[in-house]
Amino acid sequence: MKAAVVPALGAPLEIRDVPVPVAGPGQVLVKIEASGLCHTDIHAARGDWPVKPKIPLIPGHEGVGRVVALGEGVERVAVGDRVALPWLGYACGYCRYCVMGWETYCTSPAYMGYTMDGSYAEYAVGNASHVVKVPDGISSFDAAPLTCAGVTTYKAIKVGRATPGETAAVIGIGGLGHLGLQYAKIFGATTVAIDVEDDKLQLAKDLGADHVIDARGDQAAGLEALGGIDLALVTVPSPAAMQAAHAALNPNGRLVIVGLPADNRLELPVFETVLKGISVIGSLVGTRNDLEDVFDLHAQGRTRVVAETRRLEDVNACFDEVLAGRVPARLVFEFSG
Ligand code: NAD
Ligand code: ZN
Ligand code: ZN
Repeated sequence: MKAAVVPALGAPLEIRDVPVPVAGPGQVLVKIEASGLCHTDIHAARGDWPVKPKIPLIPGHEGVGRVVALGEGVERVAVGDRVALPWLGYACGYCRYCVMGWETYCTSPAYMGYTMDGSYAEYAVGNASHVVKVPDGISSFDAAPLTCAGVTTYKAIKVGRATPGETAAVIGIGGLGHLGLQYAKIFGATTVAIDVEDDKLQLAKDLGADHVIDARGDQAAGLEALGGIDLALVTVPSPAAMQAAHAALNPNGRLVIVGLPADNRLELPVFETVLKGISVIGSLVGTRNDLEDVFDLHAQGRTRVVAETRRLEDVNACFDEVLAGRVPARLVFEFSG
């Protein structure tokens, strides 16, 4: 099968012909129809984070396709089912975090396209326990970005407790942020969209943002004029963007950090955090339940996925496009035949 492979950290991806993987016990083999490009895949290929991925690596954790083979003992999923292969490739189901409903913080997890091979390929293997069925009404093209960008920002808005009467800022209107903005609206908040690209600011307006701020200008003054913000969802992998969002928070404000910069340090003022009772919250993807909610909202027509198709062969150029911030808003590799 054709796959995009990271041969070494920091090296360009290579399109290779590799064996179709085999579904082991409890696993399913999925013929991929669409696979989104998450900024995380770029961090993975570059080895940006303290914990490194497997090498060689087939990235991809927004894969969607049909189950074509079952490993031993699989009952939850059948051949022919259309499923999503999210970042959380496995969680034990027994540790205290799994039992509490926080399987994303499982003590022995596997991550698709990071600790196990992902969906930048014609076929991928997932654990039957952690694939999520895609409702018939949703195209694979739309389901792919929802599988990470959607579920991650849905969960972030939930843990950030967006409510009507409050103002939520979404910083970075890329793959994640364009969906986060829509969830903030669904949860009833007044929304502020912040980016540094004209196209992204226009996209935010098209998606119904109540206010739009260009971070190349005076973001602090812009937010102050709006009366500050109560919730900030920072998708930009930039400590400076996180600091700027923190500085604009009102008393009882929540800074929800989702972007994962290679520069793994964030300096925040203690005094303002304490005097304003500000919460700083990290948030990692979402559970299978959260992804089902995300698919349900999309099937109801309450969210819109903004994405463009690309060929897997162009993966390195696609990484450059994302890094330049020129993508509206997600790229999706589509597989035919
Ligand atoms: P993306 O590149 O599609 O979006 C980033 C957006 O930020 C772009 O629109 C860009 O124009 C904008 N931007 C850049 N600098 C800015 C600034 N200073 N102020 C405002 N906007 C700015 O990336 P993505 O796929 O949405 O991923 C974003 C980050 O989230 C990555 O670091 C990724 O690894 C991380 N991520 C985290 C999780 C999680 O579970 N926590 C899940 C998925 C992705
Ligand atoms: Zn992702
Ligand atoms: Zn667990």
